[in-house]
Amino acid sequence: MWAMKSYDAIILGAGAAGLMCAAAAAQRGRRVLVLDHAKKPGEKILISGGGRCNFTNRYVTPANFLSSNPRFCISALKRYTQHDFIALVERYGIAYHEKTKGQLFCDNSAKEIVAMLLDEAADATVQTSTTIAHIRRGEGDAPVYTIETDNGSFEAPALVIATGGPAIPQMGASGFAYDVARQFGLNVIEPRAGLVPLTFDDETMD
Ligand SMILES: Cc1cc2nc3c(=O)[nH]c(=O)nc-3n(C[C@H](O)[C@H](O)[C@H](O)COP(=O)(O)OP(=O)(O)OC[C@H]3O[C@@H](n4cnc5c(N)ncnc54)[C@H](O)[C@@H]3O)c2cc1C
Repeated sequence: MWAMKSYDAIILGAGAAGLMCAAAAAQRGRRVLVLDHAKKPGEKILISGGGRCNFTNRYVTPANFLSSNPRFCISALKRYTQHDFIALVERYGIAYHEKTKGQLFCDNSAKEIVAMLLDEAADATVQTSTTIAHIRRGEGDAPVYTIETDNGSFEAPALVIATGGPAIPQMGASGFAYDVARQFGLNVIEPRAGLVPLTFDDETMD
């Protein structure tokens, strides 16, 4: 039997979103735990942009996002813009270049972006190789979430699901977030692939 460990916030998923969230919460003095079933954090960031991570675009606007809730992008980009992220990358001295149409890539390696995010989230605890078994929500107006794993039991009044999309399951991707949403009765819009390379054989091209 594991002793229950308490935090202010638990984040499931140590990818781009989970690490940014952990950094923001920990820098506000919250006790933060990040759990991930992969062996290492930020695996998908490492393969992004062909290994050089296309970390943002100079010309991002809410109009660039397809969403059934377009207002979300408006409020998100009002609070944190591409210029904030570029400033962060520059503070870490990460060399980058513009490819085309405002796309920004690291000169060297996506590893630098993962290292930067981990450094920003240094005050959070990041626990990898952990399988999430159950999520339970307590009763009352201020419910506490309990997360049971093969590597301990944890509780917090705030739970963030940042387990990403299902692309490339070999790298740890899963439909976990959709299952959790369904568990808590949230409406799930049927997911569709957003960025798919198309290949044509000679027959199709004729
Ligand atoms: C080949 C490729 C290239 C890409 N290139 C770029 C690019 O250059 N620029 C760009 O902005 N985007 C790129 N993307 C998209 C990129 O993956 C996302 O922008 C980014 O990774 C999304 O971050 P995320 O935190 O939402 O998800 P992820 O980075 O996928 O992180 C999710 C985390 O949750 C963990 N997880 C999943 N299921 C569970 C579970 N059941 N229990 C515990 N942990 C779990 C995973 O192990 C992972 O660490 C690319 C994607 C692919 C596939």
